[in-house]
Amino acid sequence: MSLIEMRNIVKTYNIGSEGELTVLHGVDFHVDRGEFVSVVGTSGSGKSTMMNIIGLLDKPTDGTYTLDGVDVLDISDDALASHRAKSIGFVFQNFNLIGRIDALKNVEMPMMYAGIPAKQRRSRAVELLEMVGMGERLNHEPNELSGGQKQRVAIARALANDPEIILADEPTGALDSATGRMVMDIFHQLNKEQGKTIVFITHNPELADESDRVVTMVDGRIIGSEVKHS
Ligand code: ADP
Ligand code: MG
Repeated sequence: MSLIEMRNIVKTYNIGSEGELTVLHGVDFHVDRGEFVSVVGTSGSGKSTMMNIIGLLDKPTDGTYTLDGVDVLDISDDALASHRAKSIGFVFQNFNLIGRIDALKNVEMPMMYAGIPAKQRRSRAVELLEMVGMGERLNHEPNELSGGQKQRVAIARALANDPEIILADEPTGALDSATGRMVMDIFHQLNKEQGKTIVFITHNPELADESDRVVTMVDGRIIGSEVKHS
């Protein structure tokens, strides 16, 4: 069984007086342990909606989802939150760092929620920030960092609780191509050296082609899945 296994996922939003809008039309999606999968598709094709369902931030209207063998649509909200915190690290296009606190504290935040003692938190945050090349900027706040630096901090934060899966929603979308390249290299490194499973949404076909497999979405459907490296 795959690590991520989704079948026939439907997502319908209630859009008030205009009725309902179905944005995922029965999507089958699976990701093996250790795989690096890119998801490409035009704006509005449903990539982020799918990402939020994979990441347990949102629930589908219909379909099944097993994560590491657990039927995650059939567990309590508490159990869901705990799965999310343990198994999944998120990286977003706009970094979503917390302002007015430094890089260290941003990376410590998920560990604080996980109840890790302060000393341990601090040393792991330093270690992670050093790993992503931010060891010299531990006490910089987000507004004192460039886009690429912010994304490095966000990646370190995503790794805080050592999740098996990293979900990245257009993480290079707000970066120039050279900076995006450096960020992409970090994802490759996490996949190769730490065996992280990566789902990477991108608009950039060249970056997508570097992953193990490219999944293409159009209008809420997956229209292709092409193996690039195996
Ligand atoms: P992508 O990430 O591929 O650009 P999204 O998943 O963000 O696509 O959006 C897919 C479709 O769902 C779009 O038409 C978008 O407007 C719609 N959508 C997303 N979130 C909501 C929501 N909360 N309520 C209503 N419609 C939504
Ligand atoms: Mg999106």
